[in-house]
Amino acid sequence: METHIGMDININDMSKEMYELISDLYPLCRSITGDGLRKTLHLIQQHIPLTINEVKSGTQVFDWTVPKEWNIRDAYIKNSKGEKIIDFQKSNLHVLNYSIPMNQKMPLDDLKAHLFTLPDRPDWVPYRTSYYKENWGFCLSHNQFLELKDEEYEVYIDSSLEEGHLTYGEYYIKGEKDDEVLISCHSCHPSLANDNLAGIALATFLAKHLGQTSPSYSYRFIFIPGTIGSITWLALNENQVDKIKHGLVLTCLGDPGKSHYKKSRQGNAEIDKAVIHVLQSSGQDYEIQEFSPYGYDERQFCSPGFNLPVGCFMRSPHGTYPQYHTSADNLDLVQPQYLADSLSKLLSVLQIVENNKKYFNQNPKCEPQLGKRGLYSAIGGLTDTKKTEMAMLWILNFSDGNHTLLDIAEKSGLEFDLIKKTADTLSQFNLLKE
Ligand code: ZN
Repeated sequence: METHIGMDININDMSKEMYELISDLYPLCRSITGDGLRKTLHLIQQHIPLTINEVKSGTQVFDWTVPKEWNIRDAYIKNSKGEKIIDFQKSNLHVLNYSIPMNQKMPLDDLKAHLFTLPDRPDWVPYRTSYYKENWGFCLSHNQFLELKDEEYEVYIDSSLEEGHLTYGEYYIKGEKDDEVLISCHSCHPSLANDNLAGIALATFLAKHLGQTSPSYSYRFIFIPGTIGSITWLALNENQVDKIKHGLVLTCLGDPGKSHYKKSRQGNAEIDKAVIHVLQSSGQDYEIQEFSPYGYDERQFCSPGFNLPVGCFMRSPHGTYPQYHTSADNLDLVQPQYLADSLSKLLSVLQIVENNKKYFNQNPKCEPQLGKRGLYSAIGGLTDTKKTEMAMLWILNFSDGNHTLLDIAEKSGLEFDLIKKTADTLSQFNLLKE
C-alpha cells in the first residue's frame, strides 16, 4: 500500500529530532560560502541524501558574481594585559561575518569604528555581515562595550577570503509527475536558531518524510545561502523552472509567534490559496501578507523575469521580534512545540496541493438521490453527518470540471480534509470522475 503525506507520522517525536538537529547545527559558523556551510550540509546528509554542489567564485549569475570563499578559524580582541575580552571561540556572532584577516594593535578610538553593539538591548550581541564590501569588525554586547578602557588592543582575525566556491545542497524526490514543488531555505546564518536553523530543520524533516512516501508531485528541496544562493540556483536552473508549480520559502518557523504567510507575487496562486486555507482552518491566530520585494529568497523566485508561484511561510517575520539577528535568537527562543505546529501546518498544505483535483459530477441533472445509494450510511463513520451532507451537495454542484476541491472548500467554508474524504466516497459510488 502506498504511503501518503502525513501518514505514519509522530509529529512530537519529529519535533524533538528537529530540535536536536538545530542544536547540532547551532555552534557552526556558517556564512554564504565556506566550511561552516559545508559542514551544515554534511550534517543534513545524515538525514536525507542531499547532493552537494560547488559553484566557483567569479561565476557570473545574472547581474551578480559568486563571491570569494570565506573561512575563519579564530578571532579575538585582547586588552593591554593580554586578556581575551572578545573571543570568537565563545560565539561566532562576535566576528563581523566575512571579516578579512587582521593582526594589529590599535587604540580604542580606532577600534571603535569596527565594533557593533545594540544599545537598546545591552546584553545581546548583534549579528552583522559585510559580504560585498571588504571590511572587518567585532560584535559585542553594549554593556561590554561600555566597560572598554582607553588603552591599546590587539586585534586578531585568522580568516581567509580567497577564490573558492559557493556551496549549496539539493534533494530531489521523484513523484508520479514531473511537475515540481520547490521548498527553499537559507542556510547561511551562523549561531541563530529561528532565522534560520528552524527553517533548515523543517525542510530536512519534511524532505525525509516525503522521501518515504509516493507523492504525486516531484519535490525539490534546496538549502542555499540567502540571496546569492537563490540567484545562483536560478541562473543554473533557468531552463527547468517552468516545472515548478508550487513553492515555499521556509524561515523563522520555531518561535512562539503566530503563523505568517507572505503571498507569492502572483498573489492568487494555488499555493497561496492552500496555505491561507490551512491557516484559516487552524483555529489559531495568523496573518497573511501581500507580496513585497523585500524579505527572503522569494524576492528572487518572484522577480518579474521568473514570477514563480513561491510564497514564504514563517512564524514571526524578520525584523518584527526583538531577538531577530541577535544572540537571543538561540536555543531557548526555538522550541519543539512550535516546530511541531509549523510542521503540521506544512503537511496540511502539501496534502491540499497533492489532492487538489477537479472532478465531474456523473449525475449533473438535478441532485442524485443520496439515500437510495446508501450514501448517508456510507459516511456514517464521520462524526458530523450534517456537515458531510453539506460537503456532498457542494462537491456535486461544483464538480463541473472548473472547480478544484480547494475552490469548493473555500466556497462552502468546509475544511479541505472533509471535502477530500467526501469526494473519495462519492467517487467510490460512481457519482464523481476526475
Ligand atoms: Zn536573517
